[in-house]
Amino acid sequence: MEKALEAPLTMSQMLSFFEKMMEKNAVQTKEMIQTIVSEIRKPPVDPVREVTKKREKESKEKNEKEYWEKNLWKLLNCKHEREDGTCVVGWATQSDGKERGYCPNCNNGIGPELAMTYPERAEEMTALYQEMRRRPRGRKENVRYVA
Ligand SMILES: [Zn+2]
Repeated sequence: MEKALEAPLTMSQMLSFFEKMMEKNAVQTKEMIQTIVSEIRKPPVDPVREVTKKREKESKEKNEKEYWEKNLWKLLNCKHEREDGTCVVGWATQSDGKERGYCPNCNNGIGPELAMTYPERAEEMTALYQEMRRRPRGRKENVRYVA
């Protein structure tokens, strides 16, 4: 019995074989082109730019840290007073029902957020907020003293 594999290919078998090979090739070529195109479309990674970006991010973080440290220093070193010794903080009750103040001398907001802004000093900040709220408000001439 003759084995099919050993039989020479007919012309039509040969053509069909090449056709299939070309189809397969076409699919692979198309996939390859798509890959190349998508690679080209990706923004190029510029190592110099990456370093610059990283530096900028670090410098921004450093500046923010310094800003809050400076703010904290001002907050702790300010008496929040007018020249006559009265409390200069202006207070307002905000939409969440909480009272918040602002000191124009140290440019700080005085509210419950201080404890969150400086978590390592949360207790101190809460105490400061409460103490500030207890202080008499307004100028001396406006403060009424009970005789
Ligand atoms: Zn102040």
